[in-house]
Amino acid sequence: MRLEIDNLSKTYANGVRALDQVSLTVPPGMFGLLGPNGAGKSTLMRTIATLQEPDSGHIRLGELDVLREKDAVRRTLGYLPQEFGLYPKVTAQRLLDHFACLKGIANRKETVAALLRQTNLYEVRNKRLGGFSGGMRQRFGITVALLGDPKLIIVDEPTAGLDPEERVRFLNLLAAIGETSVVILSTHIVEDVAELCSRMAIIDRGRILLQAEPAVAIGELEGRIWRRVVQPEELAALQARHRVISTRLLGGRRSVRVYGESCPEPGFEAVAADLEDVYFVTLHSLRGEKAA
Ligand code: ADP
Repeated sequence: MRLEIDNLSKTYANGVRALDQVSLTVPPGMFGLLGPNGAGKSTLMRTIATLQEPDSGHIRLGELDVLREKDAVRRTLGYLPQEFGLYPKVTAQRLLDHFACLKGIANRKETVAALLRQTNLYEVRNKRLGGFSGGMRQRFGITVALLGDPKLIIVDEPTAGLDPEERVRFLNLLAAIGETSVVILSTHIVEDVAELCSRMAIIDRGRILLQAEPAVAIGELEGRIWRRVVQPEELAALQARHRVISTRLLGGRRSVRVYGESCPEPGFEAVAADLEDVYFVTLHSLRGEKAA
């Protein structure tokens, strides 16, 4: 099953153009949708999840016309929104059973138990949700999204606020799900995509700026990323002379990363490109400048 998004546009009543002719092809596996806050990710996720209407464009999921056959899409889709409310006094097992009942799931008891095992919540199934940690909450959210064996799973900014251990655990769970379904991970966290996704797109101000395999996009920058340790007061002058991609702190020292075909000036060293370089080069349209 493959998701095809074609020329999707959406302007909100306040005039914000949240989606601007978005076209994307999402094959099976883990797909990362990366972009800064306000880029349009949630708008796109909600539209695919049939929770809001675009102004124009089409979405196909396999044989389904997503914007027309909403009920059929909802039966085959799992959606973990950025924020969701839980009933704090209810146990994980009871609430999941309740949702399973609403969804008309057959073999409810077995299904609920199997899902709780899959997301590593079986041990805490009789605990009230109000006592869950952030990571447990997110895993419970995924458990609910997995009810009904969805072929498309959408997760919107799922790792924000998780501690490192919880985050790794959550990403591993997503990776396992991605082996059999289409999973779209929407995030502003570059590492999430780098660790998990075989395909990705970068979105900013409602536009898709790049669709690529992360490894290929990184490969295209190889030999073009240069680094130097800088003092904060040097930065403005360097920015005036070079295509500065980003500054990073490492062990308290600030280093600047510059994009260039050759060594920008003495003192810079060539470094291996990574997905964060791809992200900033794309957002700052450095590729466009290079082509022009
Ligand atoms: P992201 O998920 O990437 O942070 P969103 O899709 O939430 O981006 O938002 C994209 C843009 O649309 C932002 O400028 C946001 O302020 C605006 N926006 C989102 N939802 C609404 C809404 N219901 N009404 C008006 N503007 C909105």
